[in-house]
Formats: sequence, structure tokens, C-alpha cells
Amino acid sequence: MSPEFEVTILGNTSSIPMHGRNHTAQVIRFGQEFLLLDCGESTQHQLQKYKAKGSKISTIFISHLHGDHYLGLIGLLSSYHLSKRKDPLRIFGPRGLDEIITTHFRWSQTRLSYALEFTETTTEGKVILLEHPQFTVSSFPLEHRIPTTGFIIQEKEGLRSLIKSKLLESPLSLEAIQQLRLGKDYQDTNGTSYSAKDYCYPLAPVRSYAFCSDTAFNPSLTAYFEGVDLLYHESTFMESESLRATETFHCTAIQAAQIAKLAGARKLLLGHFSSRYPDLNELLAEAQTIFPNSSLSEEGITYPIPTS
Ligand SMILES: [Zn+2]
Ligand SMILES: [Zn+2]
Repeated sequence: MSPEFEVTILGNTSSIPMHGRNHTAQVIRFGQEFLLLDCGESTQHQLQKYKAKGSKISTIFISHLHGDHYLGLIGLLSSYHLSKRKDPLRIFGPRGLDEIITTHFRWSQTRLSYALEFTETTTEGKVILLEHPQFTVSSFPLEHRIPTTGFIIQEKEGLRSLIKSKLLESPLSLEAIQQLRLGKDYQDTNGTSYSAKDYCYPLAPVRSYAFCSDTAFNPSLTAYFEGVDLLYHESTFMESESLRATETFHCTAIQAAQIAKLAGARKLLLGHFSSRYPDLNELLAEAQTIFPNSSLSEEGITYPIPTS
């Protein structure tokens, strides 16, 4: 049984929050691990509204320092302090974020109740930020007006489950079992061979989720998330505003769909919508002309990471 791997959208709007939509934030759940990607202004309200386990978040990843992606961070960190959080909190974000946080708490004369560990991200290629026994989180560069990274969460291959009836037929040494569960064939000292596929069930396919917060259209970036199962990609504008998209280092819905197609993604979740569109159905329709398995991200909805 694979652990839950899902994303809950807390906000998906760009620039000024309007039409009941909020700035970017999303919670990733992997088994018992909870992560936050970006932390727009309303994040702590949205965490409460959607009962998204805010107190369990162990790590926060900030894509870049435009206000619509991090202005909720100080508030959330303050609430953790007021609720006497003890668990350490890790934050990964661009250069300057540490200074912003430290400056606020210095001038508010706050000594946090928990340890805050900050790590600076870089836009130099793909970097593994977090190694969990079951998954990794990596950053990769995006093309925006200021240093910006996307994030990809990739499930690791686990150990194969043994076929118990086969073991009863011919008991194996602990060493053999360890090898077979890793998917490696085994040969004992008598020269007898045991094949992993005879003794173990096949592994469930590993799942992956990529988050592209704000970026200009750049097909070369798809190398960082090739074959991803679920791609959240910004789609700030419709095609009629493609010039504006280029000028502001954002994408249209059609460009987001082209990226999903080039990357060989299984499913595309659109987000970071401009406040000029109260109704997003036409924007979705544009994306679906290129990549049919596109959906609008919706606040409060949890999307499981699909598998083949
Ligand atoms: Zn933005
Ligand atoms: Zn931005």
C-alpha cells in the first residue's frame, strides 16, 4: 500500500487577490510528512479553513520573493510561536528571505519558541534540498524577473513485498531476502539462483509532483521535470495577453499546456491566475486544446498524485 501523496491548493492567484481567490500556497502530504510550497498572504487562514494540518508542517519552500508568494510567512511563523511550537522548522528560500525574517523578529523583540533552520536556494541547476527515506524534494531554476526556483517532489523506490507462499516453499537466508527485496537477483554458495521477480511482487510505480510558480515560457526547463505525474504550472494569462505574459516573465495557459506536453506530464494543474479573469473556463479551454488532461486548480481541493 503506497503512502498518501497529495497536494492541497490553498491559493492560486497572482498580483492582487480578487474573486475570492488567494495568493499562492499549497500543502504537500506524503504519508505523515507535511510540506508547504509558497506562503501567500492568506496562508494561515486557508490552512485553518481547509483543516490542512498547518501545525504538522515540517518544512516550507519559498519559490521567490515576490509578495504574492511569501507575504504570509511572518504571520505563520508568529502563530507557530504563539501556539508554543516546539518542533524545529526548516525553510528553503532565496537569498534575502533569511534577512527579512530575522529583521522582523529582531524589531518585534521575539525569540521564537522553536528552532528555525534556513537554507538558501540557488538557481544553478537541480539541487536536492531534502532527503526523506521515502521521497526527495529538489529545486530547479525558473525564468522570472528575480531569482526563482520551482520544486519537484519525487517518491523513492521502496522495498518490494515478498510473496509469502514462495518463501514457505523454499526458505531463504536474511541476506537473500534483503537482496531480493531490493530487486536484485541472488545466488547462494551452492550456485542456486533466485530471481527477484519470482519472490517479490512488482513495485508500485513511483510518483512525482512538480511546482512551477512563476516563469516565462522556456521549453528547456522541462528537462527538470520530464515525465512528471502531476505538474502545477502557472498560467497567468490567456493567449490574447501573450505579449504581456512575455513582458512580465509569465506564461499563458497555452504555454503552460505546451510545457506539460513537452515534459510528458501525466496531468496539468493550472494556477497563478490573473485577477482580470473572474471566470476561468475559457482559460482552461485554451489549455485543453494543447493538453487535454488539464484542470484548473481549485482552492480547498486535494489532488492525489496520479500513477499510471
Ligand atoms: Zn506570482
Ligand atoms: Zn513572481
